Amino acid sequence: MQQLDFMEAALSIKDEIIDLRRRIHQYPEIGKTEVETQKLVEEYLQNLGIKTQRIAGTGVLGLLEGGGAGVDVNPGAISTVGLRADMDALKIEEQTGVSYASRRPGLMHACGHDCHTAALLGTAKILAACRQDLPGNVKFFFQPDEEGDGGAEQMIAEGALENPQVTAMFGAHVSPGIPVGYMGARPGKSYAASNPFDITVKGFGSHGASPHLGIDAIAVAAQVVGALQLYVSRETNPLDSAVITVGTFHGGTQRNAIAEEVKMSGIIRTLGPEMRQKTVAAFRRIVEGIVQAHGATAEIEIRTSYPGVVNDEAMTRLACSSIAELLGEDKLFPVAHPTMGTEDFGIFLEHVPGCFYQAGVANPAKTPTVPLHNGQFNIDEDALPVMSAVHAKVAYDYLRGAKS
Ligand SMILES: [Zn+2]
Ligand SMILES: [Zn+2]
Repeated sequence: MQQLDFMEAALSIKDEIIDLRRRIHQYPEIGKTEVETQKLVEEYLQNLGIKTQRIAGTGVLGLLEGGGAGVDVNPGAISTVGLRADMDALKIEEQTGVSYASRRPGLMHACGHDCHTAALLGTAKILAACRQDLPGNVKFFFQPDEEGDGGAEQMIAEGALENPQVTAMFGAHVSPGIPVGYMGARPGKSYAASNPFDITVKGFGSHGASPHLGIDAIAVAAQVVGALQLYVSRETNPLDSAVITVGTFHGGTQRNAIAEEVKMSGIIRTLGPEMRQKTVAAFRRIVEGIVQAHGATAEIEIRTSYPGVVNDEAMTRLACSSIAELLGEDKLFPVAHPTMGTEDFGIFLEHVPGCFYQAGVANPAKTPTVPLHNGQFNIDEDALPVMSAVHAKVAYDYLRGAKS
């Protein structure tokens, strides 16, 4: 088989990938409403001769059946690798001022999911062109609603990992903390698990001049906030990670009255399943203990959201060696630390091994470096063909390895 040059293939369609990204960027759609993006993705894949299927409402699954080069008669021996891009935007007003800025007021691709989608379409084109040389199948997961309720879970529930069975999953996120041209991943815990919570502290109202006749929900709730921070700093091993953020705090109706009720909401973020379990249990104990100490009561609701991303060791080695081979050893970015951000790619990794890698997009000479979820966020688009090529090589290398 001839040597496949994925980078050369990606660079030859660089303008097309950038154009796709800008088209998606101009018309951002938030989770569950990605109808135009869905149509664009579907048509693009179909034009490449890739079978498509709508899934999870506004998602698309594409299946590229490889020629199975080198694979013997048994079709069961053919592996299928999954590549995932998320497609949803955010309720953020774009402030970049670029010519292809969002044309929808209040909505923006501020998390780079436009880049993920465009880059993966580029990968589809590269791989479709060499399908005869592919030692297996590639399934493309264009996922809706990453920022919201978790499109990954819905895709899985609707059978995205089956027929044919996906045996490994890979995906990428753009990272403004990494220079353009670099990519990397870390094995193991990479993103945090999250548990959103709502607490209602209930006291007893009285005249502000007679606090002893009431139970001050504001004073008690303030102690709860403090105690939760004390838990993180004193009960959590400093080498483990937990963040408890109380993001909203509302109580009281009247300057001269003891508040009867406070409502708080926030998110518990933890790294790894053990920390998650321990922190959620402690959270409940602390809130209940503090309110009880002051004669108040609390309604506590803790939900289970994304599980965190835990990269498989072997799949991370594979992805990193593909990146190093394609971009050069010096462009393999050492991702030293996990992030306390969340990503529902981790749900795929609860079912199949895989790796979620980080793609460098920073280049201060072209665009200011600002964080994700910021109205000024933008990337150096030179990153797009790099992502397309890396996805293609990782998928190819996985299938080649799975075959042998
Ligand atoms: Zn995001
Ligand atoms: Zn994102």
